[in-house]
Amino acid sequence: MDKKVALITGGDKGIGKAIVEKLVKEGYYVCFTFLRNIEGAKIVETNNKNTRAFQCDVRDFSRVKEVSGMILDQFGKVDVLINNAGIVRDKTFLKMDRETWDVVIDTNLKSIYNFTHELLPIMINEKFGRIINISSVIGIKGGFGQTNYAASKAGIIGFTKSLALEVAKNGITVNAIAPGYIETDMTKEIPDNIRQELKKKISIGEFGKPIDIANLIAYLVREESYYITGEVFNINGGYY
Ligand code: NAP
Repeated sequence: MDKKVALITGGDKGIGKAIVEKLVKEGYYVCFTFLRNIEGAKIVETNNKNTRAFQCDVRDFSRVKEVSGMILDQFGKVDVLINNAGIVRDKTFLKMDRETWDVVIDTNLKSIYNFTHELLPIMINEKFGRIINISSVIGIKGGFGQTNYAASKAGIIGFTKSLALEVAKNGITVNAIAPGYIETDMTKEIPDNIRQELKKKISIGEFGKPIDIANLIAYLVREESYYITGEVFNINGGYY
């Protein structure tokens, strides 16, 4: 198949949805996963030709295997994998019960193993692959009440840099993007007073948009971006 095939986890809304839409415009066939938002996934599928949605909990390795199998049966390959699905469950550490710790580490970090491990052999076989993992500014700078989230997002950076070393000779690049504050469901619950305080620390003075992340992804997944690997790209409007 001439057309390149991309898989984005969490493509029904927010940053993942913007990535789906952008890659469709760039001519990719785009598969994406969602967890609960069946309606949102249907809308993305309907509004964008060349997309296919799969309900899949990224923590569930057997389901990930099943979905990977279905994608490979249909397309024979996956050129681009964007590990984007993620959650926040903020609590200060003393109040953080084990369940809140685990669910964030399992969803944001442990899950990265699943699709990556399933699809990497296919990319090696094709001698081409682009893997992009969505980290966060919080994984770099830390965040109050976010030990679980920060640990998961910092872990993604270590994973990215290590895997990049292992697969560089196979034509596969592995990079991470660390968004700052982006307008999505994840940030919409931030109370207005805190939002105003955060904006004071963003040089551009505003939260970013999902497309700001998708635009860099469209560049990094191109063949001509072969020399960029093991990097973490901050997209945060100059957050200090
Ligand atoms: P969002 O709008 O809340 O979307 C999160 C996505 O992850 C949804 O598609 C959701 O699916 C999916 N998801 C959650 N748990 C899942 C699971 N167990 N299995 C499969 N999918 C699951 O968030 P967003 O802001 O677009 O965030 C996307 C990524 O960017 C996340 O990794 C986040 O940590 C990161 N990020 C966001 C910001 C920000 O300011 N927004 C900043 C830095 C980093 P359903 O809709 O079906 O539940």
